[in-house]
Amino acid sequence: MVIIEMKDTPQEVYRKMQENHSCRSCGQCCVNPMGMLPDEVMAVAAFLKMDASKLLSEYLVDTGGRGGDPLLKRPKKVPYEGKSGVLKGRKVCVFLQDDEDGNPSCSVYRVRPFMCRLQFCNMSPETRDGLIKWSREYYRKEMQNDGDRGLQQ
Ligand code: SF4
Ligand code: SF4
Repeated sequence: MVIIEMKDTPQEVYRKMQENHSCRSCGQCCVNPMGMLPDEVMAVAAFLKMDASKLLSEYLVDTGGRGGDPLLKRPKKVPYEGKSGVLKGRKVCVFLQDDEDGNPSCSVYRVRPFMCRLQFCNMSPETRDGLIKWSREYYRKEMQNDGDRGLQQ
């Protein structure tokens, strides 16, 4: 069991999660996309060679305060159109698309939000609780740091 503590840095949390979980890339955790910080929005826009305002209006939605800040964005959810049986009929992150082998895959994987990197399906309840508490504080602090950068349009 991984214990996430409030004093942990993002690097420490990332290391703990990576060392203690494995992923079979089924895409199911992309049914609940996580919050994206302003810098992460810009990184995805640059990766997709898309104007940030287009990304914001067509691909992202407000989190409505989930994660602690009403200005935090997250990817829209859209009906899954790929081949995976476990995802059929479900709504998934707009960036999840089947790869050329027909496996669900993050189309912005290289620049996916930090919180996406911490999502694992086999977390113990204690780990999940710790991660939720930690992530609220992480978003709060990061949004405070990025507050002046202006991505509200
Ligand atoms: S950005 Fe990528 S990793 Fe994150 S929820 Fe969407 S598809 Fe999944
Ligand atoms: S963490 Fe779990 S749910 Fe998410 S893609 Fe990997 S195996 Fe699937």
